[in-house]
Amino acid sequence: MQSDERRAFMREAFRTRFGREPEYWVRAPGRVDAMGSHTDYNEGFVLTLSIDRDSWIAAAPRTDGRVCAESMNVAGRHAFEIDGGVETRVSGWAIYVQSVAQVLRQEGLAFPGCDLLVHGTLPLASGLSSSASLEAAAALLFASLGGFALEPVRAAKLCQRAENEVVGVQCGILDQYSSILGEAGSALLLDCRHLTHAYAPIPDDLQPVICDTRAPRELSGSAYGERRASCEAGVRVLAGRIPGVTALRDVTSAQLAEYASELDPTVERRCRFVLEENERVHGLARALAADDRGAIGALCAQSFAGARDLYEISVPAMEAMLEAILAAPGVVSGRQAGAGFGGCMLALVEAQRVDDFVASTADSYAHATGTVPGIHAVRSAVGAGLLSA
Ligand code: ADP
Ligand code: MG
Repeated sequence: MQSDERRAFMREAFRTRFGREPEYWVRAPGRVDAMGSHTDYNEGFVLTLSIDRDSWIAAAPRTDGRVCAESMNVAGRHAFEIDGGVETRVSGWAIYVQSVAQVLRQEGLAFPGCDLLVHGTLPLASGLSSSASLEAAAALLFASLGGFALEPVRAAKLCQRAENEVVGVQCGILDQYSSILGEAGSALLLDCRHLTHAYAPIPDDLQPVICDTRAPRELSGSAYGERRASCEAGVRVLAGRIPGVTALRDVTSAQLAEYASELDPTVERRCRFVLEENERVHGLARALAADDRGAIGALCAQSFAGARDLYEISVPAMEAMLEAILAAPGVVSGRQAGAGFGGCMLALVEAQRVDDFVASTADSYAHATGTVPGIHAVRSAVGAGLLSA
């Protein structure tokens, strides 16, 4: 759907649902990682793309301090008082909106209530950060309603806090940072310790394609905790040997090799993956800037091999998807995206061959697994912002 069609469609729905015209329009994108699995909680680096699948919110102010929220993706209306306490917490998806409102109020930022309507083009709960895009859009909406500016990194931190404290999901800041600070035509290289970033340009004729395995991600919760614990165990041992180590970020590959025999073999493999993955983040940023397709393919292949053999977050569906990706026309690279154990993968593809790539990958994967995948060609898109009224 084109932007103007989407706008007309939402405007009509807003009129039907709320009986008046929307006056405020905001949008915020989802994201996918191009490199850097499990490096965020090790205070390392991630190369992430904000994508042209996003959440839009249309809104009109209210004078009674209430927010009435509806989504075109999920049925039902949710209402809450901006200054209501914890006991007034809404159930369902609107908790993401309410949590942002609460965190902004805790910061002393004032804004009026509103009627709001969400329309998203991201698959929900597939690892493309629909939740962060909803939070980022809500934060921008409340800032415009209240007439205050929110510095982008602060906005990302507040949205993360909303998801951690109010929603209760212990996510890192990557999703929110990427949704707010992404740029069209570039990947964002995030330093997860210092919360600073640089942009790595993506060649125009290289197209990101998200390949959703649609494999159930049952293991992801417990296994995620176990991987984090291994990294922390590695840091405890290495911190006792190397001065100044507080996270895997501070350890070099040479140092890890030197003390490898003192680490449990599983812990050593996990740590080795994280160190190598951090190096690959910088490597891929350079390879993209230089449009070195051989290096792009090799780095992504190494990342997937490490995820499978060292970090052990691959499942058969991901291997089947990688095989389908690598056999398809126009492919430059393929690797996991997100935390692993199913979910989405990311291919980079020669833009003029994308249609053939999508058809071939979908077909081979469905043939191999019996599951119809979700294959979405995307573009990197600018971070959250206002749409003109
Ligand atoms: P992800 O962020 O990877 O998509 P999460 O489980 O973190 O997965 O967040 C998904 C949740 O975000 C959905 O279940 C829903 O509650 C909420 N959400 C995101 N976008 C929308 C939308 N357009 N309409 C309603 N709820 C949404
Ligand atoms: Mg999320």
